[in-house]
This record gives sequence, C-alpha cells and structure tokens, in this order.
Amino acid sequence: MRPKLPVTRGKNVGTCNICGAQNIKLTEDHCPPKTAFVKVRAMELRSIHHSLSVLPGEKLPKGRLVQNGVKYKTLCDNCNNNILGAKCDGEFGVLTHRVSEHLYSGIQLPGYSTFSVRIAPQKIMRSVLGHLKALGVERYEMGRFTEPVRDYLLNTSLPLPEGIKVYYWLHPYRRNVTIRDAALASLELKSTCNFWLLKFYPLAFMVTFNQGNGFSRIINAMDLDRYGSLDFDQEVDLPILFDERDIKHPYWPEAPEDSTMVFYGEESYDAIQKVTKPTF
Ligand SMILES: [Zn+2]
Repeated sequence: MRPKLPVTRGKNVGTCNICGAQNIKLTEDHCPPKTAFVKVRAMELRSIHHSLSVLPGEKLPKGRLVQNGVKYKTLCDNCNNNILGAKCDGEFGVLTHRVSEHLYSGIQLPGYSTFSVRIAPQKIMRSVLGHLKALGVERYEMGRFTEPVRDYLLNTSLPLPEGIKVYYWLHPYRRNVTIRDAALASLELKSTCNFWLLKFYPLAFMVTFNQGNGFSRIINAMDLDRYGSLDFDQEVDLPILFDERDIKHPYWPEAPEDSTMVFYGEESYDAIQKVTKPTF
C-alpha cells in the first residue's frame, strides 16, 4: 500500500497552533525558519515511520515534494511574522549561519574542538519551540506543558517553563527531521521521556518535557535551558562542540538503538534535501 503523505496544509481559517486564536487567517510557517538557510532547497518530506522502515539498499517510499522548504499552514500572522519572525528568527539565522560558515571553512585549530557564537539564547529557544509547535494541522492543545510554552512564546519577559530542557548538537547532514510528540524509552532506566526534535544542516535541537533522572546522560549534548532565566536580549558565547566524539549519528535519536526505543506521534517527519552540499 502506498504510504500516506504528510499533511502540512490545513484550512485557510482556523485555530493558531501557538496562541490559540480561533477563526483566524492561517499563514504558512517554515520549519526550520527561512533564516536558517542561505537558499531554501527542494526537499522530499516523508513520515519518519516510512523512512525508518526501509532496509539498507532499499528505495525510500515516495514523499511529498516541497519546493521551498517545509511549511505548515498552522500559525496566525502575528505568531508567525511577529512573535517568531521579527523577534526570534533573525537570531536563529545568525547562529546557524555562523556554525555553517565555521563547519564549511574546515578551519579547526589543533587542540580546539569548541567554537562559540555570540547569541541571545532566549530567542533561539523560542524559535525552536515556536516552529515545532507549528507542526500538525489544528494542533492547538491545552495541557501541562503546552500552556506554559504558549505563555513563554507570547511574553518575552517570562523564563523558560520549569521541566523543559533544550539540547543542541552539531548535525552536519542533509537530512532534516521535525518531530512533535514522540517518546524516548530507555530500557536501562526503565523510563520514558517525551520530546520534540528539529534537525537540519548544521544543527539539531531536542526539547524534552519533565525528563527523569538519567536521560541527560543518554542524550549527552549541550543544553540551552541553562540560560532559561536570562533576559530576552541578553547574549552569551554559546559553545558548539566540534570534536568527532561529540557528533552524533545522523539518525540519533529517532532510530532505535540497543538500549533505547522511540515512539512517534503523528507529526514526525524527515525531509531529504535534493543536494548534498550547501552553498556557504
Ligand atoms: Zn497565533
């Protein structure tokens, strides 16, 4: 049976996935935001289930061809173009472009496996959370974390809500992944943690909710949430780890490993870019 293609376009008028405004004109949100790329390339979008069910050497099932990046028509104009677009996405672009330039230049001084980018972490975290919230048509929800996340996005003076962690690591691969509402299960810890994921060249971001003890060791990445109480505009030198030992497998964490399993929600996609090298 031909796999069902991902649904990215809802009604023209509906409920905004971020602020919950009803009967409002919906606009297309790019995930990751357009600022993350010099040139947005054609991609083929598939459900994670279909991508991961293919054996090595087998052809991937046909996906939905998206010409201008992956877009979800799920946000109102204010959330899309003001809350995220005007206030946060520029900073997100600065981070990803600096990392890309550094990665593509191939400059690596002996003994230095860390590089830093001066950015405002609160804007980066809001950009990641906001664009992942755009996944899924008509997915505005009330819940233990969704309401604090909505308030955090709409009010720039609020700290990152309690219980949320935002990890990041270098992702030097052309495979984009967007996942909302998945769970990582650890057989070793006998526990699960809910997560959202955004991966694209050159960075990956993983948001976890109320993770139990031991998951930080399993995820083993730098975190942005340590800056969760900073002012909205406050900048830090954000370290990016370049050591080979810090670079994860392109399919981590979505492909199962010996000690972990992943359960996916409906909004779990990957998108393969049609070219292998970016033009930095
Ligand atoms: Zn909105």
